Amino acid sequence: MAAPGLRLGAERLFEMPAVLERLSRSNSTSQAFAEVLRLPKQQLRKLLYPLQEVERFLAPDRRQDLHLRIFDPSPEDIARADKVFTATEGNRIDYVSSAVRIDHAPDLSRPEVCFIGRSNVGKSSLIKALFSLAPEVEVRVSKKPGHTKKMNFFKVGKHFTVVDMPGYGYRAPEDFVDMVETYLKERRNLKRTFLLVDSVVGIQKTDNIAIEMCEEFALPYVIVLTKIDKSSKGHLLKQVLQIQKFVNTKTQGCFPQLFPVSAVTFSGIHMLRCFIASVTGNLD
Ligand code: GDP
Repeated sequence: MAAPGLRLGAERLFEMPAVLERLSRSNSTSQAFAEVLRLPKQQLRKLLYPLQEVERFLAPDRRQDLHLRIFDPSPEDIARADKVFTATEGNRIDYVSSAVRIDHAPDLSRPEVCFIGRSNVGKSSLIKALFSLAPEVEVRVSKKPGHTKKMNFFKVGKHFTVVDMPGYGYRAPEDFVDMVETYLKERRNLKRTFLLVDSVVGIQKTDNIAIEMCEEFALPYVIVLTKIDKSSKGHLLKQVLQIQKFVNTKTQGCFPQLFPVSAVTFSGIHMLRCFIASVTGNLD
């Protein structure tokens, strides 16, 4: 989580143009992020803090229903996280291996985060977007029916490992449940599970398989809302409030703040990178 002194996040970004100026010149900012900082203010806000865009459509007394600022990183933190996700000579970002069993998974030396969700929820698109600063990484997708679904491991420098879990569906085969369940239960270096929910349709019955596993094993997990570019602001707000209510009343281990993203417009991608860098101890 961002240090308390750096908690002003979005406000700081928009009230202090000097911060933008300083950041875009700083050596600690990647060139890609320096270009992002040159976007017009409104576009920048939408890209970095997508939910604050919809917040203004809520009556002030309902705004407290939205947990928007539990993780509210500063622009400096976002810039640092982007560096972690940028492939360089000294920070290699690569596909490592695939596994169908946890005992075939790579070593445990780094912290790990995993991504899980229904088939078609936008998981491979999201992982590709997260790795857009490492264009050589190949996010493998095996969608052909009948092909064994595997867990795919990617290393991000010496920082952490990202695991792409197989997508589940209406008829999740038993061996899939066994594989995912064993991984979630036994993977000791797993720091956070990111559970993807399509923002157009919200939480579906099949998502309960993953939610129940995370709850049963008392894992810390986070709901990521995908494809937010496909919804109107009103629809997105309705989904966000419904899911937020579900999280508040029906879950124990789910982080109360939702992370909305679009792999098409890149909205929320920087924020999610920053959260991953934070939970894996790379912003301390
Ligand atoms: P996966 O099965 O969960 O890996 O899903 P994919 O990443 O393959 O995405 C499924 C479909 O949704 C594809 O047609 C993608 O182009 C589309 N998609 C994924 N993410 C987004 C997004 O953020 N916005 C929009 N509009 N479409 C998306």
